[in-house]
Amino acid sequence: LPTEHRADVAVIGAGIVGLAHALAAARRGLRVAVFEREQRAVGASVRNFGLHWPVGLALTPLHERALRGRARWLEAAAKAGFWCVENGSLFLAYHADEQAVLEEFESRANGSTCVLLTAQDVARRTSAAQTNGLRCGLFSATELTIDPREAIRKIPAWLTEAYGVAFRFGAPVNAITLPVLETVTESWRVERAFVCSGADFETLYPQHFAGSGLTKCKLQMLRTAPQPAGWRLGPTLCSGLTMARYDNFSGCPSIRPLRERLARDWPEHVRWSIHVMLAQNELGELITGDTHEYGLTFDPFDSERANQLILAYLSTFAQAPSLEIAERWHGIYSWLEGHSEFVAEPEPGVTIVQITNGLGMTLAFGMAEEIVNGEI
Ligand SMILES: Cc1cc2nc3c(=O)[nH]c(=O)nc-3n(C[C@H](O)[C@H](O)[C@H](O)COP(=O)(O)OP(=O)(O)OC[C@H]3O[C@@H](n4cnc5c(N)ncnc54)[C@H](O)[C@@H]3O)c2cc1C
Repeated sequence: LPTEHRADVAVIGAGIVGLAHALAAARRGLRVAVFEREQRAVGASVRNFGLHWPVGLALTPLHERALRGRARWLEAAAKAGFWCVENGSLFLAYHADEQAVLEEFESRANGSTCVLLTAQDVARRTSAAQTNGLRCGLFSATELTIDPREAIRKIPAWLTEAYGVAFRFGAPVNAITLPVLETVTESWRVERAFVCSGADFETLYPQHFAGSGLTKCKLQMLRTAPQPAGWRLGPTLCSGLTMARYDNFSGCPSIRPLRERLARDWPEHVRWSIHVMLAQNELGELITGDTHEYGLTFDPFDSERANQLILAYLSTFAQAPSLEIAERWHGIYSWLEGHSEFVAEPEPGVTIVQITNGLGMTLAFGMAEEIVNGEI
């Protein structure tokens, strides 16, 4: 008979949501075991921009949660030994409607960490902004950048060393019948389980996903080779298409005319739900994207036309020594219209936790603490 292992808490999935739950439970002194079906996590958590992006939630009830997560990212980076930079973000305005949105946002966010910059101030902060036609910028100091490939690889080693968390990679969990959870080779006795399976709605509790309204979103991304001569981007950059997408700007009166103009000027971009950001990691690589397609099954092939649309819009607000693309990929996350999370208890002691709509890197640490503390 196989040995029976024991833990207080089982976490299924070693993406950022699973890792955040493992940390929150371990900090409460619980014995934790994490089960990841792949040999290493290769889901949305390593395919993203690597942005902790509280500004996208400013003026919404989730901002506090995001800021609590920020402190955890800084702590995790210091302890697990991965790169994490407090570089902030910069929204750039080239049209009167974009300028109006940034001004309206800044006055509503009065007293926050956002500040309006003149075109000259923007140029002093970064050499990557297109200055031609630039009207102003909005700088926010709260955003972090990490390299998600490095962070998601190093957090498990830290959790094992600091808290004795057991990790099982290459260990799909196909059924949970508490208190027993079985993998192909092991049997575990646990009291609680957190199912943090990302965009896999098919393996565990498919009936709960089927009735939930959840769907999936596919995003195409691009990465350059390291920039020459140590060139640095500075803050993460974005412009009008991103203002149109994020909830933080939705209360600004000028957002409507901005969206209407974007639909006229960039119809194909709007059809692909493209918004464009430019981030940089420690290696000096630039990361940009992304498209948004919705559904339960996607074409496995990426559209080069859509990639070119991303690069075309990028060139309207950003410049860099080399925009030659070294890698292209897509990622998939769960989507629930109008909601940033999906939490369900399919059976006593088991909690499904989904952070939806592309916010996992920003919200996972804060949300996991609330879930583990029983506040959600
Ligand atoms: C292109 C892209 C850009 C993004 N940019 C940002 C950003 O800049 N900022 C931000 O905040 N968010 C961003 N996001 C969103 C963020 O990446 C996701 O919200 C987050 O990674 C979701 O984490 P997760 O742990 O739920 O999912 P995943 O990372 O997909 O992890 C789920 C894990 O569960 C495992 N698993 C599933 N089922 C089982 C099972 N039965 N047994 C064992 N293991 C299982 C999977 O193998 C997988 O490793 C982006 C996402 C994408 C795709």
